[in-house]
Amino acid sequence: MIVRFPESLSRVKKLFGWISMVSMLLALAQAEAMQRSSQPLVIVLLGPPGAGKGTHAPPLSEATGLPHISTGDLFRTHIQQGTDLGKLAKTYIDQGNLVPDELVLDMLFDRLKEPDCTQGSILDGFPRTLPQAKSLDARLKGRCAMLVLNFYVPDSILIERIAGRLICRDCKRPYHKLFDPPRETGFCEQCGGSLYTREDDQEAIVRKRLTVYRTETLPLIEYYAAQKDVLKEIDAQNSKDGVFHDILEVIPTSIKARRHLSVQ
Ligand SMILES: [Zn+2]
Repeated sequence: MIVRFPESLSRVKKLFGWISMVSMLLALAQAEAMQRSSQPLVIVLLGPPGAGKGTHAPPLSEATGLPHISTGDLFRTHIQQGTDLGKLAKTYIDQGNLVPDELVLDMLFDRLKEPDCTQGSILDGFPRTLPQAKSLDARLKGRCAMLVLNFYVPDSILIERIAGRLICRDCKRPYHKLFDPPRETGFCEQCGGSLYTREDDQEAIVRKRLTVYRTETLPLIEYYAAQKDVLKEIDAQNSKDGVFHDILEVIPTSIKARRHLSVQ
């Protein structure tokens, strides 16, 4: 036994060496996770028209304490308030052109400077294309953790949802051919006005919008899928409550805890 002592001592030393290396690696991983969880979180809502992003954004904002920023609303606010960015955006819109990405980012980062965005934000409508996602990353410069929620619904269901929408010509009350039909086909139960399908909601146009959407966003989805822990698929065919439950499941507990603390 005594003779073997130096040998077992070196084994013990080796073992301690391994243990300290493993614990150092664990500490590093923990430090990285802590840094990630203490960083502001930018949640991007991604999904085709009719997938329910608009339905879930307000309760998600409520649950996380992060403001919901829709780029459509940002445009409208800047244009209404007549800011320099708004005036510039209007020149593009009036000529029927798309607002350039850099201008959208200027508006977005102007909004992200507000005090309610220090913990992060929920982006709706941006980024929509790969170049937009890369520009956003370049401006965020790794200062924020990203979480992309991709709302998945098969096209056939989206078409049924959107192309079934009806609106009253007079009081504008919405109906749905399958999910919320009027008592008398073709007429509003509130005012008796005639019901119609919006131009945008015609089946052929919905199909075209979906094709454009899929073509534009596929590279974006691949881009986020290649990054660790960023892309989360949300099956948006389920009931409203079921989908929201799935969304909350993928939100980091640190964010929910922060919300809890700020509520107290
Ligand atoms: Zn009506």
